[in-house]
Amino acid sequence: MARISSPVCRLCRRAGQKLFLKGTRCDTPKCAFERRDAAPGMAGSRKGKQTDYGLHLREKQKVKQWYGVLERQFRRIFRDAERSKGNTGETLLVLLERRLDNIVFRLGFGQSRAQARMMVSHGHITVNGRRADIPSMMLRPGDVVRVKGRSKSLQLAKANLESISRDIPDYLSRVEGDVPEGHVVRLPEAADAGVPVQTNLIVELLSK
Ligand code: SF4
Repeated sequence: MARISSPVCRLCRRAGQKLFLKGTRCDTPKCAFERRDAAPGMAGSRKGKQTDYGLHLREKQKVKQWYGVLERQFRRIFRDAERSKGNTGETLLVLLERRLDNIVFRLGFGQSRAQARMMVSHGHITVNGRRADIPSMMLRPGDVVRVKGRSKSLQLAKANLESISRDIPDYLSRVEGDVPEGHVVRLPEAADAGVPVQTNLIVELLSK
């Protein structure tokens, strides 16, 4: 499974905003961005004028990193968004939001999207009663997501649900119990994503 390998807190500093890539740590004073928000590197504190291309690129990188997807996956999703009816930028966010790893995270089973992706790729998640180990799987309204009983991820998910008070978005519902489960109530909308990004800049960049 391909993963983003650079130190994630540097990505927040590079993006100029918190991307919430480290789970609970992101909401504590230990957050590296809270302590130092300058871009990483020797020249990080010298904020020069950004080029037009740099502005466009930053928005694209921000969304990729927010969802933890690599360039090739991201471009494939963008092409799918372009082929769909409606606003390409909004559809892009909707498609990213519908990914299984994202939904496991948004249900609160995973502390971060990276942890949620690990639960999925280890085969500890089921969708509609069937093992689902592909993080990029697109979910639909009516799908039911569970953490497999007797898996390590079940303990982890329960601990996360107890320790993290994160609101779940309206397009999902959650039932807590011995084996917590989540339901996709409706298709997400771009506003449900909550990503602070200007999608029009991404569309301009990738449509050239
Ligand atoms: Fe970003 Fe702070 Fe989380 Fe690190 S701890 S990933 S800097 S939000």
